[in-house]
Amino acid sequence: MNHPRPDHSTGDTLPAAGRAPDILRHRQMGGMPRASHGLLSIVIPCHNEEEVIEATHSRLVDVLPATGMDFEIIYIDDGSRDGTLARLEAIASRDNRAEVIELSRNFGQQSAMSAGLARARGDAVVIIDADLQDPPEVIPEMVERWRQGADVAYGRRRSREGETWFKLVTASLFHRFFASLVPYPIPVDTGDFKLLDRAVVDAVCGLPEKRRYLRSLVAWTGFRQVPVWYDRHARSAGETKYSTRKLIRLAIDAVMLSSDTPLRAAWWAAGVLATFGVGCALLACLMPASDGTLVATIGAMIALVGAVQTSAVAIVGEYVVRTYREVQGRPSWVTRRTIHGRADAATDDASRSNSRAA
Ligand code: UDP
Ligand code: MG
Repeated sequence: MNHPRPDHSTGDTLPAAGRAPDILRHRQMGGMPRASHGLLSIVIPCHNEEEVIEATHSRLVDVLPATGMDFEIIYIDDGSRDGTLARLEAIASRDNRAEVIELSRNFGQQSAMSAGLARARGDAVVIIDADLQDPPEVIPEMVERWRQGADVAYGRRRSREGETWFKLVTASLFHRFFASLVPYPIPVDTGDFKLLDRAVVDAVCGLPEKRRYLRSLVAWTGFRQVPVWYDRHARSAGETKYSTRKLIRLAIDAVMLSSDTPLRAAWWAAGVLATFGVGCALLACLMPASDGTLVATIGAMIALVGAVQTSAVAIVGEYVVRTYREVQGRPSWVTRRTIHGRADAATDDASRSNSRAA
């Protein structure tokens, strides 16, 4: 079957923002059921995965026919320094459903996944890690949920083998903290293992920002998300590419890219200083003259001057963050579909977002 490359051009739209932060609430499924055939793309970022990549390919080709769809498997070699690329070339030379994108150096997992999404032609696209921590056997269930109308079927971890308690606790806390900071619903206890409908892929690929955190971008598009529960295994070979330092950098990136809330901390600090300053000033006025009056007066002056300076920083921050959001260039809304008011009620599936900056 000939599947054309996607067009990531812009189109028409509907408001998507404006809902309160909520970590677990998602739009209910209610989309139109989808056709049972079509093309399924699998996107796999790979960095130094020579020990596992052959096993990953065999598991995928064993399980994917169960979806009843044609499939393509896109491997993105993200600057591997081991034999990963040679193994991927060998896979591609014997299996024409495999495709390998070799990045010119290590750009990081987020960029590698974005490169794969941009290349994928499927009606649905699954992102999965190379290390078999996310079992490919879950993919048919994701496809089933997609057929029933879900736009995003995300893998939700019931359990995680092979992780330290430190990673489990910090990851769980971070997911909940992050979900409370972003102004749209984002599922917790999920990674990048998920199926995206073509509409979602087009919306995500259409976002012009270069620094990307896909977990949040997918949620930002606001399409219908449903969980598919699974048990996450330990790595079958090799080791994690994320040191604690790298994880902290990723977490900071995720927050800064997606939320203005950290800036609001400056307003809170200004408020606390102002309250303290006014309290000290009242105390200085009301108490009889003594050494304490002098201390309260000095305290009031320091706190009130601090409050004014912190407010000034916060005001500058408000302008900076607005400028940053404009530069980020996200559209003002994303349309899921348009329903025409006609007797023959044709609907246009809409995946595309407007080109105006938010
Ligand atoms: N990965 C990548 N580029 C990187 C780091 C990781 O493409 O710079 C890939 C890696 O090969 C794997 C996925 O991203 O397929 C997740 O990495 P890893 O398993 O090390 O993360 P963890 O599961 O430990 O969070
Ligand atoms: Mg892993």
